[in-house]
Amino acid sequence: MTREALRSQSAGVKNAPKCVAQAEDLQTGYGKKKVSEGIRFSLRSGEILAVIGPNGSGKSTLLKTVAGFLPVLGGKLFLDGKPGERMKQAERAKYLSVVTTSRPDVEWMKVWDVAASGRYPYTGRLGILSEEDRQIVGDALSKLRLNDLSERYFSELSDGQKQRVLLAKSIAQRPKLLILDEPTSFLDIRYQLEFMQIAADLAHGEGMALMMSVQELSIARNLADRVLTLKEGHQDRIGEPDMLTEAYIRDLYDIRVVFPASTGGLEALLSGR
Ligand code: ADP
Repeated sequence: MTREALRSQSAGVKNAPKCVAQAEDLQTGYGKKKVSEGIRFSLRSGEILAVIGPNGSGKSTLLKTVAGFLPVLGGKLFLDGKPGERMKQAERAKYLSVVTTSRPDVEWMKVWDVAASGRYPYTGRLGILSEEDRQIVGDALSKLRLNDLSERYFSELSDGQKQRVLLAKSIAQRPKLLILDEPTSFLDIRYQLEFMQIAADLAHGEGMALMMSVQELSIARNLADRVLTLKEGHQDRIGEPDMLTEAYIRDLYDIRVVFPASTGGLEALLSGR
């Protein structure tokens, strides 16, 4: 599915775009261990920013830093125009949501309840859902085609189904910023395509800002509005997806393999054809 096709199937964003997250010379890492530096981006509502780079280049670390799971080691991070560290926990829980490949402790919960937990930032301590909350949870489950599984236990699901449930939970949270760490890693091709359509709808239709790390370059090329690349401890580039030429990908990932012409070369592999 091309970027144009995904866009044309999404309705236009109604409001003027706002700066949802911005980084200026941001440094990320763990305590004294610096992972990457020189990170600069500005992410507006309605935009999808894909983060790519070799394994270990710091994609997850960057997402965790933007989410506030890790402290900023240097430079600046702004959320909603304010320094990220000033955003209170309760405000952050409504403002942004994170979907990671690691499983939270929800194995014993039913699918509906996992998705409904996305509403907790709005329901107060007792977690009593209003009719509107229930509607939002139901809509999120439908979007991910999970209605038939809603009474199943999370632990009984496949990895791909679990990933969709966690995405439904995040959608139910209705965040301004949705952070996705390798959102398609467990999904088969059909759900990868569905994921792309859902992500395009959330951003270009509903005006959510999405920041995601992806391994599949065809997803970065076809879905993202902009791509940020990480390499050897720093931000290498940021730009539109057409910067991901074969020559650049070879350089970014240090690919030396020569593909025989009969395979269509690296380009065929990257474009997912
Ligand atoms: P990517 O998502 O691009 O594969 P990561 O952000 O997971 O990369 O990792 C970047 C670097 O940070 C790696 O060198 C990794 O070993 C290191 N790292 C990851 N998690 C931790 C941690 N909890 N403590 C210290 N170092 C970590």
